[in-house]
Amino acid sequence: MDELTAGVVVAGAGPTGLMLANELALAGVAVVVLERLPVRTGLSKALNLQPRTAEVLDLRGLLGRAEERSFATVADGHFSVIPVGYAGWDTRHPYQVGIPQAQVEAALEERLAEQGVKVLRGHELTGFEQDADGVTVTAGDLRVRAAYLVGCDGGRSAVRKALGLPFEGIEGRGHGVSADVRFSTTPPGAPTEWRSMGNMVTSLRPGKFIGLIPLGEPNLYRLSYGDRLNRPDDLRAEVPEAEVRAAVRERFGDEVEIEEIRWVSRFSDDSRLAATYRVGRVFLAGDAAHIHFPAGGQGLNLGVQDAMNLGWKLAADLTGRAPAGLLDSYETERRAVAEGVLQNVAAQNALIPLTPDQLALRGLFRELTAIPEVQRKLSGMVSGLAIHYGPDDGVEGARLPDFPLDTGFASDLFHSGKFVLLTKTPAFAPHPEVVVAEVPELPWPDVTRVLVRPDGYVASTTGSTDGWLK
Ligand SMILES: Cc1cc2nc3c(=O)[nH]c(=O)nc-3n(C[C@H](O)[C@H](O)[C@H](O)COP(=O)(O)OP(=O)(O)OC[C@H]3O[C@@H](n4cnc5c(N)ncnc54)[C@H](O)[C@@H]3O)c2cc1C
Repeated sequence: MDELTAGVVVAGAGPTGLMLANELALAGVAVVVLERLPVRTGLSKALNLQPRTAEVLDLRGLLGRAEERSFATVADGHFSVIPVGYAGWDTRHPYQVGIPQAQVEAALEERLAEQGVKVLRGHELTGFEQDADGVTVTAGDLRVRAAYLVGCDGGRSAVRKALGLPFEGIEGRGHGVSADVRFSTTPPGAPTEWRSMGNMVTSLRPGKFIGLIPLGEPNLYRLSYGDRLNRPDDLRAEVPEAEVRAAVRERFGDEVEIEEIRWVSRFSDDSRLAATYRVGRVFLAGDAAHIHFPAGGQGLNLGVQDAMNLGWKLAADLTGRAPAGLLDSYETERRAVAEGVLQNVAAQNALIPLTPDQLALRGLFRELTAIPEVQRKLSGMVSGLAIHYGPDDGVEGARLPDFPLDTGFASDLFHSGKFVLLTKTPAFAPHPEVVVAEVPELPWPDVTRVLVRPDGYVASTTGSTDGWLK
């Protein structure tokens, strides 16, 4: 049996696990990443980075790598495929980055390798035991002893199951299918570039929907279709090619021919949240902690931001700098965000009409989205820009909107993953772990200084590190 030691074992090298491993490596924590699959699947799955995820990647200098790999810039988000703009949000990234999940993973794994961490592929976590001092994780004939284990192992998480945690929520009635398909010609009415979510998806019959998103190669599209009321007995069974062809024929007629189906997958509209995100030395993040129908394009985004929240807290704990309660704030903050997403996804599902009166309701809802305050409310939800970790809507707990400095942007100061003190007056003796910058202005005119957490949210307006760093 091979044995390793580490600060943290990350189970799963999807976007959540890779982001977390990057955060830990940046903070100098020894991290072991176990991945069940021998090679990356290359499946495109998620197609977007929401504005807050773009900001979060920018805080670590990672956004450029993602944008290099992107195939579209999408001017708006959507709520049940009703476009919602990002106007009015103070962000440098008021758009969705169109990028296949596989490319997000490739960018994150590339950076991880530069930090000296290699994903251990073909290593499936098969068990673990925890005691007062650490966790011993087994992956086949490999054993890793670490202070913490984080299950980033997806919706069917072995870590969550081994903990015996209830995955609370609703079993949906319907299903969806996604496939990347290449047509012989451009389907009638289909857009050739992805710039907006407007008119991307249509409803054919009550509860049914179908849509195409162009993927940046001639006649290559993400086909999505589904049914709110019906699902096959076995959701995990292979999707028959004939079913995909029939769905396309029903929408576009006989003349549109599928030349290639690159991959196809069926997913449920179940909506579930882990009862808790932490049991002793074991945490859950990403789909391991929450699953939902991919309405609004939020799942990958939620996972990457879970990782951004947890990474610096684990690192602070492992270096002896975490005050009491810091690690538990991960669940308090991120479970509440996931609960909000599950709620907004449920509302989006309810807007797929089953009856004529629901169709009328959707029409009315669409009209209401023209009201700027409504747009802001909805876009704040799906984009992640409305996330606030404070007890009220004050400056403490708010995200720091990025702003220009003489030398670049405020976001550049976060590349090292440390706390940042932005101050309009000369700084008092700062904590040695804090990056300090004197700035002429702050996004809040009445505020003189802000201590900002490594994940870009305001910790305090006094600049004090009390309660944040020992
Ligand atoms: C068709 C489809 C479309 C989607 N579209 C969007 C979208 O547009 N926008 C969006 O934000 N989200 C979207 N999502 C959701 C998004 O794909 C997920 O939320 C995201 O993959 C979650 O990332 P993760 O890293 O938490 O989990 P995963 O991506 O599931 O990664 C988990 C990893 O853990 C590995 N693993 C599993 N078990 C073990 C084990 N025992 N030991 C070691 N490794 C293990 C797996 O092989 C995998 O690599 C979509 C999902 C689907 C299916």
